[in-house]
Amino acid sequence: MTHACLASRWTLPLVTVTVVLLLGSEAWAQDERAPTLERVERSLAVMGTDLQIAAEGPDRGALEKAIDAAEAEIRRVEDLMTDWRPSPLMELNEAAGEGLHETPPELARLIARALDIGQLTEGAFDVTFASVGQLWRFKKGREKLPAAEEVRAALTHVDYRRVTVELDNGRVDLPLGMRIGLGGIAKGYGVDRAMSVLLEKGVQHAIVNAGGDLKVLGKKRGKLWEIAIRHPRDRERAIALLKVSNTCVVTSGDYERFFEVDGKRYHHIIDPRTGYPATGCMSATVVAPDAAFADALATALCVLGSERALALVSGLPRVEALVVDMEGRVQASEGLRGFLRVESSDDG
Ligand code: ADP
Ligand code: MG
Repeated sequence: MTHACLASRWTLPLVTVTVVLLLGSEAWAQDERAPTLERVERSLAVMGTDLQIAAEGPDRGALEKAIDAAEAEIRRVEDLMTDWRPSPLMELNEAAGEGLHETPPELARLIARALDIGQLTEGAFDVTFASVGQLWRFKKGREKLPAAEEVRAALTHVDYRRVTVELDNGRVDLPLGMRIGLGGIAKGYGVDRAMSVLLEKGVQHAIVNAGGDLKVLGKKRGKLWEIAIRHPRDRERAIALLKVSNTCVVTSGDYERFFEVDGKRYHHIIDPRTGYPATGCMSATVVAPDAAFADALATALCVLGSERALALVSGLPRVEALVVDMEGRVQASEGLRGFLRVESSDDG
């Protein structure tokens, strides 16, 4: 067994894991001597999730302004890459088969990054999954299990290697029938952008949390940020309690958006090889300096399964992961295990 097994089955009593991680850049100053700081929090609905931004600093007005700017930034990112309404990404999809199509350079850059992550994960993360992904509906009351024949046909259009991006002019070529969906990376990218704006505005302590995909800066009331990782089948149970600063913690799993037919769970992470929901892991949590990367990687790890997931992560500098396999076992990457303190308790 190459990977630590922290809890054998999710039905066992609570196992709490305390992790101290400082993966981020030391250049991000921490304001230890500051007197009592003001704290401003805001919740907004954006990118299909509840986004929370909280910031601490000496000047309440400055915090409000910084959060206004971060909010505007994340809405700008959403407008660029949503596929729920007209957007530059939708225009690109509509132009599939027409040769090189001009897109905003920022969109082309994110697509190029997504393609690189496709290569890194050997196609487990594949933004062209959308050709088959669009056949699936997970919305409550409107669930749809596509016909096997439809899935097979759409699968011929899934292959990130057939997308061409010209970074110098922002042009992208999608073959006919292919579509791109950025649902597995856009939220992370939005979190990165929002945090960058807070930093530009001089904020030193903040969190940007997009429904559990989060990035933290500095401290919370003078202490490391504590992030509880929940078990995908028992949301009351924390399987890990991470203490972090200047890093991102992003979780993907089969419990976020799913429906059941004949006792079988169909969820929103699609295995690009089959066109059906991934069966690799129940959930994957990635800790990394960059939220877009962590977002995409967490999605990929759910496709890859725990063994391949941890093998991949072990080769990536400053990236750690915690995965819950299909049997509910919790496993951690090597670098994370070095920080683990397992406190077992019988009371759950
Ligand atoms: P969440 O959005 O709940 O945080 P994820 O980050 O795992 O979850 O993203 C899941 C979304 O990613 C799906 O809703 C879909 O838009 C997209 N997606 C699903 N499967 C893949 C895949 N294999 N590669 C890239 N994107 C995917
Ligand atoms: Mg993701």
